[in-house]
Amino acid sequence: MPEFYALVPAAGFGSRMGHELPKQYLPLGGKPLIFHALNTLCACPEIATVFVVLAPEDTLFHRYDWSRFGEKLQPLYCGGKRRAESVLNGLRSSELEPDDWVLVHDAARPCLTRAHLSNLIAELRDDEVGGILAVPVADTLKRANGQQRIAHTEEREGLWQAQTPQMFRAGLLAQALRQCNHVTDEASAVEALGLHPKLVAGDSSNFKVTYPQDLLLAELLLKEK
Ligand code: C5P
Repeated sequence: MPEFYALVPAAGFGSRMGHELPKQYLPLGGKPLIFHALNTLCACPEIATVFVVLAPEDTLFHRYDWSRFGEKLQPLYCGGKRRAESVLNGLRSSELEPDDWVLVHDAARPCLTRAHLSNLIAELRDDEVGGILAVPVADTLKRANGQQRIAHTEEREGLWQAQTPQMFRAGLLAQALRQCNHVTDEASAVEALGLHPKLVAGDSSNFKVTYPQDLLLAELLLKEK
């Protein structure tokens, strides 16, 4: 039986936060930001192991106490220059079977819930290709010209915002990322193979902490959890 694994790329810096500390270690509710996603992933009974991909020179991860997650949490010091490289290196080091499912999740999405995970796994476990959590775009979208003025309004119909986890078979994902390593999410690499990953409806609470004000919103949501 193929198993389910999680892989959390956490080898980036997150320069848009304007901070000296890498984004995944910024304090949120008394813990480093990355703790919250790892906590939800490690608590999910369907997931066998949670791999976290760190920069080879990371000196911060081991300073925190991760003992509550036991052997289920496996740090891998093999991150690359780009997110796609970090994920591919993580897949190589984790030595999964080609048919195993891997759920790739951003360290910077702390408000992931058990319900998001169960829904994604239930919708995709028998799928040929795999897919991602996503939400239909709610705002009207403007295309800017070079002077930061509106060039035109984009058609919103049928547009979705990609989130994570993104769930694919380990073999297919590694093949896709070997061929296409400049992408900003895993689905884009799979799409480049001519495949059509499924969009599984999530919700906006699973947003990515990108700007300083996002931390406050995440803290409020986590208190509600
Ligand atoms: O920068 P951004 O928020 O898009 O990064 C998304 C995720 O990819 C983060 O969890 C970040 O740590 C990770 N990443 C990585 N290796 C890189 C760049 C980003 O693991 N070289």
